[in-house]
Amino acid sequence: MKSVIIHAKNISKKYGNTTIIKDVSLDIRAGERIVLIGPSGSGKSTLLRCMSGLEDIDSGIVSYCDIPIRDKNLYERTDIGIIFQSFDLFKHLTAKENIMLAPMKVKRIDKDEAEKRAIKLLEMVHLSERADYYPDELSGGQQQRIAIARALAMEPRLMFFDEPTSALDPEMTVEVLDIIVELVKKGMTVFIVTHEMEFARRVGDRVIFMDAGDIIADMKPDDLKLEKVTNPRIRQFLSQLSQYN
Ligand code: ADP
Repeated sequence: MKSVIIHAKNISKKYGNTTIIKDVSLDIRAGERIVLIGPSGSGKSTLLRCMSGLEDIDSGIVSYCDIPIRDKNLYERTDIGIIFQSFDLFKHLTAKENIMLAPMKVKRIDKDEAEKRAIKLLEMVHLSERADYYPDELSGGQQQRIAIARALAMEPRLMFFDEPTSALDPEMTVEVLDIIVELVKKGMTVFIVTHEMEFARRVGDRVIFMDAGDIIADMKPDDLKLEKVTNPRIRQFLSQLSQYN
């Protein structure tokens, strides 16, 4: 069995009096490609935020390599990359400078080395020719690819993606999803919240379905088909999606 990177046991999360995550347990192991799907409002983003240490939990435990995630210091947390739907690049920095910043500030890597790495990462996301552009001069899809390169510059052990393409139009969605697929092929451990079912099947080796704050299924990607699913909630979800596909 591969080693557990993130271990979540019996976690619950409330906002006010409403319990959003209900006693969920889930491990992320090295090399796994977990895709989290489910209806809007079912708690997918919240679970991602709890498992990545962005959000405090009300009960249970989340540990990262056996240490409670909230005890991790900033340096150790750089092992975890997180990509959001809103790319959140620094507007006053160029694409390359965005990628160089955290390795220099947090990891104390010198400027020349940081630049060398940034150039390689720009190649990886197919944006070498945009190195000196500012975020406002880039399309949404390009900004998201720079955000991915920026996260990779910290050499994370795993990456969380929270609906990385939901702010993008279809053409740009494809270019971002292709980069994620390339990353996964290189062995990156990923935990992805997405509405893109075709992508979920392509990229995932475990598809987890959430409903009303609970994990109700943990499936193989091939089983994520209307003709194979028997659970009525998942059937309803898939058939609603297919109306739009
Ligand atoms: P999903 O990602 O599945 O769409 P979310 O995790 O974003 O679901 O949200 C789950 C529920 O938690 C929703 O009802 C949402 O309104 C609520 N929620 C999320 N974040 C907050 C917050 N910061 N404060 C209060 N309620 C929140």
